[in-house]
Amino acid sequence: MKKIAIIGGGASGMMAAIVAAREGADVTIYEHNNSVGKKILASGNGRCNIINTTASVTDYAGKSPDFVTYALQQLPFSAFETFCHSIGLLLDSKDDGRCYPLSNEAKAVLIAFKSAVSEVGIKIFTEKKVTSITKEKEAFIVVCDGEKKSYDKVLIATGSEAAPQLGATGDGYSFAKSFGHTIIPTYPSLVQLHLNSKHPPKMAGVKTFAEVTLTIDTKSVTKVQGDILFASYGISGLAILDISQRASYALMQKQRVTIEINLLPRFDSQSLSDTLKRLFTSVPNHTLEAVLSTLLPTKSLPYLLEEARMERDKVVSKISVQEIQKLVRLFQSWQFEVTDTHGFKHAEVSGGGVATAQINNKTMESNLVKGLYFSGEVLDIVGRRGGYNFNFAWASGMIVGKEMGR
Ligand SMILES: Cc1cc2nc3c(=O)[nH]c(=O)nc-3n(C[C@H](O)[C@H](O)[C@H](O)COP(=O)(O)OP(=O)(O)OC[C@H]3O[C@@H](n4cnc5c(N)ncnc54)[C@H](O)[C@@H]3O)c2cc1C
Repeated sequence: MKKIAIIGGGASGMMAAIVAAREGADVTIYEHNNSVGKKILASGNGRCNIINTTASVTDYAGKSPDFVTYALQQLPFSAFETFCHSIGLLLDSKDDGRCYPLSNEAKAVLIAFKSAVSEVGIKIFTEKKVTSITKEKEAFIVVCDGEKKSYDKVLIATGSEAAPQLGATGDGYSFAKSFGHTIIPTYPSLVQLHLNSKHPPKMAGVKTFAEVTLTIDTKSVTKVQGDILFASYGISGLAILDISQRASYALMQKQRVTIEINLLPRFDSQSLSDTLKRLFTSVPNHTLEAVLSTLLPTKSLPYLLEEARMERDKVVSKISVQEIQKLVRLFQSWQFEVTDTHGFKHAEVSGGGVATAQINNKTMESNLVKGLYFSGEVLDIVGRRGGYNFNFAWASGMIVGKEMGR
C-alpha cells in the first residue's frame, strides 16, 4: 500500500486525501492548526461559496492560466456535486453560478469533509507543523516536531500566504524551492486598497453602490459595478475586491494604479445634470447639502462638497450651471491613486506561487521530482471572487488524489 503524506489539511488537501484513500492508499494529513479546514469555516462570510458552476479559464490569473483547463474539465460541476453527495453534502446553486451548501452554513461543508476523512481511515495530525521535506533515494522524509517519517509520495497543499490568522504560512514555497522549483512572486488578492486621499478616512463607514474604473499607468483596464465601502485605511467593498487582483499585481510591478469612482452610475452625465437642475428649481431655497441627500449617502456630503470647494449651506437657487457641471464631474469621476493593498492579513487569496510551468497539469506532479505533488492555492493560480478559488482547490485536489492513490 502506497504511503502518502499530505501537508496541509485545507480544501485541496482534504479532497486529495479522501480520493487517494478511496483508491486504497495509506494517507496521513499534517495540519499545523488545531483543526483542519479553518479557511472553509471562514469562507463566504460563513456561508462558503463552495464552487462556481460556470468556472472557466477566464476566471483565473497567473503566468499560465491555461494550467487550470484540464482540472476544470476533470471536475465539472456535475462531478463535484456527485462527490459532495458521496460525502453527505447537499448543494444549492444560484442563477449566477455561485454555489453554496444547501444549509447555507460553511460548517456543513467542514463537517461533511471531516466525516469523510475519518470514514476512510485517513490519519490526521493536527498542531503539527512540517518544517522540512527531503527525498532520500525513493523515499520522502517529512520532518515535524523534530521527528522524521518516511513516505512514498508527498503532496504540498499548504495554500498561500493570505490570511495567516487562519493558518497560512507560505511554507509551501520554501518546500518547493528546496526541491528546485521556481516561485512566482506573490501578492495579496481579493483585498482592500489604500488610497492617497485625506477624504476616504474621514468617510469611514460610508457604503454605496458605485462603478469603479481601474487604470494602470494610463490604460483603463477594467470597470465594475458593486458596493464600495470607505474605511479608515482606504476603500473596501465587493467592487473593490473585484478589481484588487489586477491592482495588486500592478502595484507589485511598480506601476501607477488609479481608480475612478462613479458614485451615481445609474445616470449618464447629461441626465444627472438635468436631474440636478430640476431639483434645484423645484426646491430653490433648500441648502445644497439637503438637496444632494436625495442622491448620495448623507455622511459623504461634507467631504464631497469640501472636495468640490462648495459651501454646504448655500441655497441651491444660487448654484451656477458651471457649479452643476463641477458636481457632475466629481460625483461621476472621483479619482484616487492606489498606494498599497491592505496586505496578506486581510486578503482572501494570494496571486503568484509555485510556477505551473514545472508541474504536470494532468497529474499535479512535479516535473522536477518524481512523487512530489502540488495542489490548490500554493500554485501560481488565483481565481476571481465567486467560488473559483475553492473550485481550483477541489479540482486539483481530486486529480492529485486519484494520481497518488493509483
Ligand atoms: C476569509 C476568506 C474567505 C474565503 N471565501 C472563499 C469563498 O467563499 N469561495 C472561494 O472559492 N474561496 C474563498 N476563499 C479562498 C479559499 O479559502 C482558498 O482559495 C482555499 O482554501 C485554498 O485551498 P488550499 O487547500 O489550497 O489551501 P488552504 O485551504 O489554505 O489549506 C492549507 C492548509 O495548510 C496548512 N499549513 C500551512 N503550512 C503548513 C505546514 N508547514 N505544516 C502543516 N500544515 C500547514 C494551513 O494551516 C492550512 O490549513 C476565502 C479565503 C478567505 C481567507
